[in-house]
Amino acid sequence: MYSTVMTSIVEGINTLPIFVEADISDGMPMFDMVGNLGPEVREARERVRTALHNCGIILPAKRITINLAPGNIRKNGTAFDLPIAIGILSSMGIVDERLCNGKMFVGELNLRGEILPVNGVFPMVSDGVKNGCRSFVVPLDNMREAELAAGAEVYGFSHLKEIIEFLNDGNYTKRTYNIEESKPEMKQMDFAEVNGQHYLKRACEIAASGMHNLLMIGPPGAGKTMISERVATILPPLTDEEKMELSKIYSVCGMLSKMNALLSKRPFRSPHHTITKAGLIGGGTNLHPGELSLAHHGVLFLDELTEFQKSTLELLRQPLEDHQIRLVRGNGAVSYPASVLLLAAMNPCGCGYYPDMQRCRCTPASLKRYFNRISQPLLDRIDICVEAQPLSYQELTGKAKNESSETIRDRVVRCHEIQYERFKKEEFLHNTQIPVSKLKQYCGLEEKEERYMEHMYEKMGMTGRTYHKILRVARTIADMEECERIQMRHLNEAICYRSVNEKFWGGGNA
Ligand SMILES: [Zn+2]
Repeated sequence: MYSTVMTSIVEGINTLPIFVEADISDGMPMFDMVGNLGPEVREARERVRTALHNCGIILPAKRITINLAPGNIRKNGTAFDLPIAIGILSSMGIVDERLCNGKMFVGELNLRGEILPVNGVFPMVSDGVKNGCRSFVVPLDNMREAELAAGAEVYGFSHLKEIIEFLNDGNYTKRTYNIEESKPEMKQMDFAEVNGQHYLKRACEIAASGMHNLLMIGPPGAGKTMISERVATILPPLTDEEKMELSKIYSVCGMLSKMNALLSKRPFRSPHHTITKAGLIGGGTNLHPGELSLAHHGVLFLDELTEFQKSTLELLRQPLEDHQIRLVRGNGAVSYPASVLLLAAMNPCGCGYYPDMQRCRCTPASLKRYFNRISQPLLDRIDICVEAQPLSYQELTGKAKNESSETIRDRVVRCHEIQYERFKKEEFLHNTQIPVSKLKQYCGLEEKEERYMEHMYEKMGMTGRTYHKILRVARTIADMEECERIQMRHLNEAICYRSVNEKFWGGGNA
């Protein structure tokens, strides 16, 4: 007897259909599995055999062959256990083959026959629907995320025995899954809670408006973290497409199954500086996504930037440019989306008080070492550099009403709309991405401004790269005022954000 069962495999955040073929024929009793299998998939043989046994089903003393097609795709993970078991049951005539047809099966089995959750169910189901599949049999613990895919008919089970019954009589009573006590919605952070730091807030608004990466330098306690945490709240709301994409990433990490809905807020991720390379950019044996991808469409905040391993930070260079990360291991490679707004914060020196020479105890040599922990190529990917001053007493205790995130967000949204309109024929969306070849077209200066920039170029000893960044940031500042042409005041403000960089890293080479 021969049967085919449909399942799916995750590659990055996309999925591919996989067909489990099961054949039982006369011959030497054996149980063989083929089809380019990784170690976990090869172990499925023992799990399936024992799980079936514990459900009271003894495999016949015949030749059992399982093939996972197509053979050119490497199969990893434990989600094939259930489809393999169903394929065998169907070949044995224990379940009704007609009831298996047209359904997709996903799930891990333990030795008792219980069905355990797997990662990536949301992309599997939503791609399945797109490819014309309607019915999905998934672990009960993954049911909630499977149901988030529009148009899917989902059957959730916690034990193999229940599935066998279902595939015989077709009766299904929808099980209620445990919805975790919905915690009282965490109070949404808001810029209204941030006193003072107008300069820093302004820089954040510019960063959010043109998606410019931003570095904040300032003493501990200046509010760098508090402000960064709130930047995600002033970015435009996620589109439906972005919500889907983000939710797929969280599903692949096994973080969607506990949620009641698709992710709807822009993420804010703030990994600790002791994070490993795989933790930050992704990797490990199953090439899982890292913090960088979990921050997709949102904010990646690196606090105490100088404390991160220099080699770890270097790995961010490519994805910050490409907006995706490609991970390669052995015979596999996957790509994850990674379009983030990078915010970074650091103290101005090892002791935290530079350039206040009354209090700073650092030697010139140790200062140099300190700043050298951030490489030039990484700094090149940061458009705006801003100094945070310690708060004054009035600012700290001030009762002045601060602008709310909502008010700021309305302005940012308007600025994004201007950019979408301007770049609708381009491959990029935001000012920070304007390639050098198009700077003249989008950031052209009039004669007076041109002469001024020439003068500043000489005076500050700028490099070409610095000059280009100033133009891009000035473009955003002009957009914030809905100005068609970049004007002197826009250039001046953009130059200010560069001079902070020059002050700490020395002129010219920034
Ligand atoms: Zn110091």
